[in-house]
Amino acid sequence: MTALPVDRQGIVDPDDVRGALRADTVLVSVMAANNEIGTLQPIAEIGKLTRARKIPFHTDATQLVGAAPVNVDELNVDLLSMSAHKRYGPKGVGALYVRAGTPLAPVQHGGSHERGRRGGTENVPGIVGFAAALRIAAQEMDAERARLTAMRARLMREALTLPGAHLNGDPVRRLPNNVNLSFDGTDSQSLVMGLDLHGVAASSGSACTSGSIEPSHVIVALGLPARLAAAAVRLTLGRWTTDTDVAYALDALRDVVIRLQQAA
Ligand SMILES: *Cc1c(COP(=O)(O)O)cnc(C)c1O
Repeated sequence: MTALPVDRQGIVDPDDVRGALRADTVLVSVMAANNEIGTLQPIAEIGKLTRARKIPFHTDATQLVGAAPVNVDELNVDLLSMSAHKRYGPKGVGALYVRAGTPLAPVQHGGSHERGRRGGTENVPGIVGFAAALRIAAQEMDAERARLTAMRARLMREALTLPGAHLNGDPVRRLPNNVNLSFDGTDSQSLVMGLDLHGVAASSGSACTSGSIEPSHVIVALGLPARLAAAAVRLTLGRWTTDTDVAYALDALRDVVIRLQQAA
């Protein structure tokens, strides 16, 4: 397996993908939107390269589906995965789009379910719930995108006026609901705990690595100085977040950051 680097904003350069393709490359996988820093990848451009070479191209679009329009033909992808609970659907169900003709080995043998790809009875309530969640997300997408983007702009703008603030990820090519910042003179764990005492839920990495005190591998891949990589915090906005919540979170953030910097 070849792992490609990202730039300072967390973006994969399609030229790096081009350079890494080999005669025996069987799969390219690039996530559509990062779950920690919200960075959007140039999927359509990368897909052009893989298509020209007839190499299957997978994208993890878990963060993108329901947040922005997703069209597998425009993105030039052959495989696209997504998860229901990130779109307010039930936990324990996801979906994989497979373009006709894409070679795919079974992940689980036994029954002939899902065209022989995954034996076992389907989680019908989960699947129905996922479809309902996606229907709601599609209906609300345009209004919700505008609402979240405006709140995120305020959160980002005002948080960046705090001392020692640094934005992680790209300022523009970014999910509408994601803000990830580092604050000089603080550390991630103290930021998360300090915010929690104010009732603000923040994160230092992904839920999959919670409990770890190491800097997030995503933040480390950006090539930040160690002191900033260890002082990152993520705030995400959701369907029930209001302007009042954003104002409250900003006050809490100011209080926590300044207190930690004074104690440092
Ligand atoms: C949450 C998430 C996953 C994992 O999905 P689960 O259904 O929680 O296992 C994978 N990729 C991305 C980008 C995610 O945000």
